[in-house]
Amino acid sequence: MMQQVVKSKRAIVEGNMLADAHCHLELFQDPKTVAKDAAFGGVGVIITAGGSKASSVEAIKIADGKNIFAVIGIDPENAEKDSDFIDDIAAFIKSETKIVGIGEIGIDNKVITKKQFQIEAFEKQINIAIELDIPVVIHSRGALNETLDIIKRSGIKKVMFHFFEGDSEDAVKVAGLGFLISIPPVESSRRKRVIQSVGIESLVVETDSPVVGKSPLDVIKTAQWIAGIKGIGYDEVSAQMTKNVKNLFLI
Ligand SMILES: [Zn+2]
Repeated sequence: MMQQVVKSKRAIVEGNMLADAHCHLELFQDPKTVAKDAAFGGVGVIITAGGSKASSVEAIKIADGKNIFAVIGIDPENAEKDSDFIDDIAAFIKSETKIVGIGEIGIDNKVITKKQFQIEAFEKQINIAIELDIPVVIHSRGALNETLDIIKRSGIKKVMFHFFEGDSEDAVKVAGLGFLISIPPVESSRRKRVIQSVGIESLVVETDSPVVGKSPLDVIKTAQWIAGIKGIGYDEVSAQMTKNVKNLFLI
């Protein structure tokens, strides 16, 4: 009897593979096992992100092009130290179909890296993404307006805001531009208002694990939270979250 219950639960989960739009698998001791456990638990698509030269190279190694896909790039913190890697990004992306975007990139007002280096690295990487027609994954901390200005000026259309830091008004603006808003596994009243203010076609869920979430499986809780806020079924949310990730990254 017990076994039957477990089996039917798994069948439900398998029908609705959820996607973790942003995590850092290379920071786990055993990334492959983490990904396997995630797939077994219902999270069958994982986008693992780099942010430095070393983490980007690791992300490429871990990606399998089936369940795990990589985005590579230099984040604001590493914008000066690893700036030379930016010139290699295009070649990496052209040689590996499992690399599906550039990220995480952006502006961070809480790191000590000089703004001039941050902006230069950010703009350079956006231009590479435009040239290759692939999406960018944005890291913005204390810098949403600055980040948005640079994005708008660049004309890039394929954009996902990782760990969205804005309020509901920002969310409406960002969704109106056709960009995706990624919700991390941290519930707050601000985030609730963000979720209320846009349609589920503008949302994705992420764990940023192991930095924030414990594992990619934490997206399930967030998808349930969204379903509750929206008053719709979990299956509908789950299907839409996965569809949004697949449409953006063309996987
Ligand atoms: Zn991250």
